[in-house]
Amino acid sequence: MRVVVLGGGVVGVTTAYYLARDGAEVELVEGADAIGTDATGGNAGLIAPGHSFAWASPRAPGMLARSLLGKQTAIQVRLRPDPELVRWGLRFLRECTAERARRNTLVKLRLCQYSQQQLDRLAAEEQIDYLDGHGGILYLYRDARELELGAAKMQLLADHGQEVRVLDATGVVDVDPVFAPVEEKIAGAVYGPTDASGNSQVFAQRVAEACERLSARIRLSTNVRSLRADGDRITGVVTGDGVLEADVYVLALGVGSAAVARTIAVRLPIYPAKGYTANFPIHEGNAPTVGGVDEELLVAWAPLGDKLRMTSTAEFAGYDRTARESAFGNIMRLAQELFPDAADYAAGERRACLRPMTADGPPVIGRGRYANLFFNTGHGHMGWTMACGSSRAVADLIQGRPPEIDLTGIGYRW
Ligand SMILES: Cc1cc2nc3c(=O)[nH]c(=O)nc-3n(C[C@H](O)[C@H](O)[C@H](O)COP(=O)(O)OP(=O)(O)OC[C@H]3O[C@@H](n4cnc5c(N)ncnc54)[C@H](O)[C@@H]3O)c2cc1C
Repeated sequence: MRVVVLGGGVVGVTTAYYLARDGAEVELVEGADAIGTDATGGNAGLIAPGHSFAWASPRAPGMLARSLLGKQTAIQVRLRPDPELVRWGLRFLRECTAERARRNTLVKLRLCQYSQQQLDRLAAEEQIDYLDGHGGILYLYRDARELELGAAKMQLLADHGQEVRVLDATGVVDVDPVFAPVEEKIAGAVYGPTDASGNSQVFAQRVAEACERLSARIRLSTNVRSLRADGDRITGVVTGDGVLEADVYVLALGVGSAAVARTIAVRLPIYPAKGYTANFPIHEGNAPTVGGVDEELLVAWAPLGDKLRMTSTAEFAGYDRTARESAFGNIMRLAQELFPDAADYAAGERRACLRPMTADGPPVIGRGRYANLFFNTGHGHMGWTMACGSSRAVADLIQGRPPEIDLTGIGYRW
């Protein structure tokens, strides 16, 4: 069976890997000149089933309203005459009930938990060093009342098999001594001891090399323009390098997926949520030793080798990737308040990148109206965590095997 996988982020590459390992003849097509340069290259690095909460929640409409009034909120929307944003936004608001938020969170949690197992297995089998850390993740609170609320919220995940512990400030320092000098500034944390971190771009690049060892072809610098269809089948992909034909096609283009799907009149409920990423050179011995999220500022961090990765913000502002200096305000504030000596904050790279968000939260995995077109896209803020499990499931579907994971709530929907 010949399969063309569209997209060379962590989702496309892991799909290609599982298919090649199953014996398929695989070709992966990526527009950039390297693997994993988009969302995969800019995420916080957290492998975090403990962070599976759906963004569409009863609190979200208030946050969006405050953002429209010009307040600095973690989720921001820039109103613009964009029918795609309006359609997506209305679907998002529909998901903001307590019941739907709970359901979407549990769908994501199931996939994240399964995916972490698959990631650990793949990394062990291929002996991939991806600058990974396995000391857990701290979900940090500055305020005692907020910690109480955070712990109560976490109970949902705990009730569904996720290990979580509530720590006071001393407990936080025991997990990561970097907080010793600022112990009085924090109330405590919800600690996910089984959560992890790692560099998804390094991982994706090593997996791409494994694909090539399995005889898959990795075709870089090749833009995907459109799909061609005849009846209920896809007959080819039009690229900048000509038309590619295969028995099966997998759409894993991240935020590029919706535009390519539209060329065969298929709609995907995916819209970009822009985030900001900084990568600072670590001062050896002074940096955090585990990843975390400041639940007040919604800034995430992870030590990735000799770099401290920090990310923040979700802006619904179309496909613009401009990295305004002012957008790094919360990252710099957290760095100065909690670990001022951890890294060289004057150096390092800063960039913006786009999360491929579905309105309800879970990704889109499986088939729509075309028999030989599979989706593996829309992984939103958790795609590094979900990649291996999603791709294992897509490979199973393509091979006609029942996936090990229940895909209810993750299939094609609009
Ligand atoms: C700021 C930020 C922080 C995040 N933090 C975390 C985290 O801590 N943990 C976590 O689990 N997830 C996190 N994520 C989410 C995660 O990074 C994404 O969900 C994941 O990388 C999506 O992978 P992907 O392969 O689908 O997309 P991408 O990595 O974006 O890959 C898609 C690829 O398709 C290519 N492409 C697109 N269109 C075309 C086209 N027309 N032709 C050819 N090629 C094309 C792109 O060049 C790109 O390489 C974060 C994301 C952001 C932005």
